[in-house]
Amino acid sequence: MKIGILAIGNELVSGATQDTNSSFISRELTAQGWDISTIMVAGDDERTIGNGLDCLMAISDASIVTGGLGPTTDDITTASIAKAFDLNLYTDEAVLKKIRERFEKHSVKWTPNNIKQALFPEGAEPIPNPTGTAWGFSLKKNGHILAVIPGVPSEAKRILFEGVIPLIKREFREVRQYIKSRTIKMFGPTEAEIDQMIRDVDLKIPGISLGFYPHFPENHVIITSKSLTESVAKENLEVAEKRIEEKLGKYIFGYDNDTLEGVVSSLLKKRDMTLSVAESCTGGLITDRLTDIPGSSTFLDRGVVVYSNASKTEILGVPDQVISKFGAVSEETAVLMAEGVGKLGRTDLGLSTTGIAGPAGGTVQKPVGTVFIALTDGKNTMCRRFLFKWDRRRIKKISSQWALEMLRRFLIGRSLND
Ligand code: ATP
Repeated sequence: MKIGILAIGNELVSGATQDTNSSFISRELTAQGWDISTIMVAGDDERTIGNGLDCLMAISDASIVTGGLGPTTDDITTASIAKAFDLNLYTDEAVLKKIRERFEKHSVKWTPNNIKQALFPEGAEPIPNPTGTAWGFSLKKNGHILAVIPGVPSEAKRILFEGVIPLIKREFREVRQYIKSRTIKMFGPTEAEIDQMIRDVDLKIPGISLGFYPHFPENHVIITSKSLTESVAKENLEVAEKRIEEKLGKYIFGYDNDTLEGVVSSLLKKRDMTLSVAESCTGGLITDRLTDIPGSSTFLDRGVVVYSNASKTEILGVPDQVISKFGAVSEETAVLMAEGVGKLGRTDLGLSTTGIAGPAGGTVQKPVGTVFIALTDGKNTMCRRFLFKWDRRRIKKISSQWALEMLRRFLIGRSLND
């Protein structure tokens, strides 16, 4: 059982509006256990819509068409579908009455072109639109179910849940599968390295498939488990997840909706530890990410952006001589920054970053992308040197990620270097 999606609108093909309806519909239908055969986007053009429908009919058992049901001249979806299937249009008087009542209720002036919204191809079943005037409709053609819904995203969502999903369930009851999925979030190895490591894992489990999704600087692996029985789908997912964890556990920082900053925040709260942050090249990004987490005030004392050499000295007490001898971007400076901010905030931990985000400022010894990150607990201070090859924005992002990852590893008692 495969379902195709066709989004219609000139604004979608021109790129002026992003086709969010298709991704939403696809996500929901996939979660319900159906396979999506294709997502197509067509402009408001009769021939293109006709060709799109031919393709959908050839490769799917059901299709959902969204957009172009309104009253204006560029809304040609209904007429194009009628033409493609060689059907006449009829006015549904009951729907027309309901649309007119809606206009009256909301004191909107009625214009004759609104009659168009009660026009349907012969044989179509109107699908009510509880929040708008563009009704949808369904049509059965050679065993293929076509569901046509408006383009306005909020209306499309409501009709999908209230009209379309129940319709598809009624029509294709017997082949429904259960789908369970789990997103495993990793940081450290590249997508290719993860793929290579996963090849050694036995994932020949019925109904299990894997997807790789890079979310810079993280890599996410989504395990999907399909079965005709819900408990089997769940069990198989757990087995696959466990096998991946055994092989790649040390790179995994979270699952599903977890974020690295969220995980670190929970660990800090759990261990009842406080933190101060001194940021140079990350420009406040670490603090920004941590303060996205509700309740961060329980562990975060302060985040200071110490961009100039003078501010590193004035605010954190890093001696001039250290900066002039070793450089602002050096292990020595990073260590003193972490220790300085920890003392300033009187917190259990101090975290610092200093680096060259580029594009200028690099040297042979310290090329663009050189970043030092230091973490202290007041007794011991550890510092790591990194060399990132990305652009400025990405260097900032990956530096903040490594800083949080160093914190996470420290908090779970793991070595920073493995
Ligand atoms: P109506 O004309 O009554 O608003 P309609 O079915 O004709 O309904 P459209 O005219 O195609 O819908 O689009 C209405 C609004 O919804 C527009 O702002 C459009 O950009 C947006 N929209 C349409 N299709 C999509 C889509 N696939 N994804 C996101 N937004 C969309």
